[in-house]
Amino acid sequence: MDFSDSPEEAAFRAEASVFLDENAPEKVPNPYQQVTREAQLAALPGAREWHATQTRDGWGVLLWPVEHGGRGLGPIEQMIWNQEKSKRNLTESIFSPQVGMVGPTIIAHGTEEQKEQHLAGILNGDTMWCQLFSEPGAGSDLAGLATRGVRDGDDWIITGQKTWSSFADIADWGFMLVRTDPSLPKHEGISYFLVDMKQPGIETQPLRQMTGSELFCEVFFNEVRVPDSNRLGPVGGGWSVANTTLLHERMMMGGMGNQFSFDNLLRDARERGVQFDDVTLDEIGRVQAWSKALDMLNARIMTKVRLGKNPAAESSVMKLAMARLYSRCSDLGLRVQGAEALIQAGEWQKHFLTSPAFHIAGGSDEIQKNTAAERVLGLPRDPYDLRGTPFDQLPRSAR
Ligand SMILES: Cc1cc2nc3c(=O)[nH]c(=O)nc-3n(C[C@H](O)[C@H](O)[C@H](O)COP(=O)(O)OP(=O)(O)OC[C@H]3O[C@@H](n4cnc5c(N)ncnc54)[C@H](O)[C@@H]3O)c2cc1C
Repeated sequence: MDFSDSPEEAAFRAEASVFLDENAPEKVPNPYQQVTREAQLAALPGAREWHATQTRDGWGVLLWPVEHGGRGLGPIEQMIWNQEKSKRNLTESIFSPQVGMVGPTIIAHGTEEQKEQHLAGILNGDTMWCQLFSEPGAGSDLAGLATRGVRDGDDWIITGQKTWSSFADIADWGFMLVRTDPSLPKHEGISYFLVDMKQPGIETQPLRQMTGSELFCEVFFNEVRVPDSNRLGPVGGGWSVANTTLLHERMMMGGMGNQFSFDNLLRDARERGVQFDDVTLDEIGRVQAWSKALDMLNARIMTKVRLGKNPAAESSVMKLAMARLYSRCSDLGLRVQGAEALIQAGEWQKHFLTSPAFHIAGGSDEIQKNTAAERVLGLPRDPYDLRGTPFDQLPRSAR
């Protein structure tokens, strides 16, 4: 395991650090961190401006090829960039799904017309995109999706329901998976579409979370007509196109490990003059040990990436550990406030109520544990192998 940056990486880190010190707004207005839709919308122009500043100076899309406005860099530079942002509490951007997910997918699988139509708007933040993958019955097992697309001349008629789609109600475009042939096995009958979210037949319904925030939506497709020219990749080839999206999502997230600032926690405690009891001290020690272990794991992932290996299992362990650390830290944040925590509505309360989402979004804890069990511990795979069975012949529970 190699813990240090190479001279080139150290130079890149220094460059990133200078850019962030000089350009990052003191407090970036992040729509993700606002509660009401009004506040989220009010934060949008600031987020757009910060996004444009990064793009203008070559920091917006490190992984995109140069000819499409990126820097053509690799996952290690992305990780270093993420780490530098995390140190400054610059968390996920509202534009991440488009620059980190659908943009690279269009570059990899799109026609020249699709690239021409979408890439510039995605890059500069003029258009906003949402991800329409999950459905009420298809989250962890994404290939079980049931939203149907039926061919009608040059169009597809799409009917079904998506859920959990962050900011779908304010997005201009969505990228979605649709079952276009239910007679094929479930991974094979899926196609990938780019959908104009403002057209008739699409109904969005924000869902309120326990933070009070309305971040994501249910989205209903009632016989929505989508031109075949909006299909990304081959008919029935959507699963492998989606894998490009998911791979880029993982790369985009790489290095965001230590998002939760242990230093903030201690600073808060010191400011309040908190006298820690033994139980709290013990927990602080544990959290710090976890935090350090996460740094090591990050170094291990970086080393693997540098050697051209896929750190899939380590990434699963990382995701699990991150979510757990986030929960324990927010728990501690409340403990530091003592009984007052119950009547306040501050940062730690928000972290505490947000933490369950980290155990679900981007692959739930149980799924990460399955991956770790199979790929790290070598435990046997699920005994029920229904691959090859046509989707419409699968038992409902296996769809
Ligand atoms: C904040 C947030 C934002 C999101 N944004 C988006 C978005 O913009 N677009 C989008 O498409 N999706 C989005 N999602 C959806 C997210 O990807 C899914 O919630 C996630 O994949 C889990 O799927 P599910 O909720 O359907 O849970 P299910 O798959 O129904 O699982 C329910 C429970 O069963 C467990 N489970 C399921 N299968 C297994 C198994 N084989 N072994 C063991 N346990 C199992 C799960 O781990 C979980 O605990 C978002 C989610 C959150 C929380």
